[in-house]
Amino acid sequence: MKGKALPKQFLIKNGDIIDPVKGERFIGSVLINSGRIEKVGKRISANGATVYDAGGKVVTHGFCDVHVHFREPGREDKETLATGAEAAIAGGFTQVCAMPNTEPPLDSPESIRFIVEKAADLPVKIHPIGAISVGQQGKELTELGAMAQEGAVAFSDDGIPVMDSGVMRRVLEYAGPLGMPVINHAEDLTLKLDGQMHEGSWSTRLGLSGIPDVSESIMVNRDLELASMTGGRLHVPHVSSAKSVEWIRGAKAGGLDITAEVTPHHLFFTDEDLHSFDTNYKVAPPIRTENDRQVLMTAVKDGTIDCIATDHAPHTVEEKEAPFDWAPCGMIGLESAFGAVWKVLSELGMNLEEVIHCFTINPRLVMDFEEDLFSAGTEAELTILDPDEEWIFAKEHIHSKSRNTPFSGESLKGRIKATITGGKFFKL
Ligand SMILES: [Zn+2]
Repeated sequence: MKGKALPKQFLIKNGDIIDPVKGERFIGSVLINSGRIEKVGKRISANGATVYDAGGKVVTHGFCDVHVHFREPGREDKETLATGAEAAIAGGFTQVCAMPNTEPPLDSPESIRFIVEKAADLPVKIHPIGAISVGQQGKELTELGAMAQEGAVAFSDDGIPVMDSGVMRRVLEYAGPLGMPVINHAEDLTLKLDGQMHEGSWSTRLGLSGIPDVSESIMVNRDLELASMTGGRLHVPHVSSAKSVEWIRGAKAGGLDITAEVTPHHLFFTDEDLHSFDTNYKVAPPIRTENDRQVLMTAVKDGTIDCIATDHAPHTVEEKEAPFDWAPCGMIGLESAFGAVWKVLSELGMNLEEVIHCFTINPRLVMDFEEDLFSAGTEAELTILDPDEEWIFAKEHIHSKSRNTPFSGESLKGRIKATITGGKFFKL
């Protein structure tokens, strides 16, 4: 994907501007000067500026995804930082946080520096998340402080749960004073066993071994208890079950300062979709029931769940074509994220401003990133989208190096038309 370098003065006019920080929406313009925001307002004139007419389109902050897997180093056949950045741009994302379950994992200050340096010239900001434990083995803590100094923005062993409660306690204790979120992939392995999909009537019917919803909620509850005890900053990733939502809602009501995310696929699909035995639906944690899906959507609406995160997880065709029991977990998600989420949440009655919050300001608040992207002098990171366009997602919309997604053929609502990031304009 080739972007065009932004002209010195670039005026986006007639846009339906949504400012998630000020909570404003108006028809207006954005003036960019030398790649930085100069002004956002109702009437802006700029003689000599190159003009882009955004009539009929929404102009808002660039999206931020706190949970992607870009596979570099080690599995560059699935995704690289560069191809992952292209997938992000196609989805309207200008900042992403990359999980450390690479080969080898990002479990040292040097490995964090590798990602920061390698991503420096890419048009998307890629923030590495450091591993919690050495080798993601769940035993010995990594050098958290040194990794933070090199640019790690959070700690996680994602892909693998921290089974040892003592390790989880200590990482929350150490990361808390650093101001860093701790993200635990909540699936109790002693309950998950070799489960392939959500445990329920569909797993029985399909003859696939099940993963009970409590395998997640037990660990979410444990982590909330440990966050309460230690004062650490817990962020709960890819919440999949109604029971976990209940625990998170209760903890927030009790004043605990924690955050949570949900994926587009847990909001869009149900376990019934697995009747096709398409391994692209195989994810961890698994896609659950229609009731879970409804509870997750309500949790986004009422703020129990803070943000959308894709858990973009590329795998090769060969791996995903394996029999269901052997295929790896995960699907790509950046390119289809907004169209999938806006479709289901608009049907639920959420408005566009609320949904854009979950893609822009809320994930940045989770990570403590600068969230006011419209303030003068900020490097331009904008997403331009058509919220009304209905379209069928297809392979040709994929920019990731991998193609593993069950969204192919699905009707989505809302489409990214352009992304401005890294000093470039990407027309989609
Ligand atoms: Zn995970």
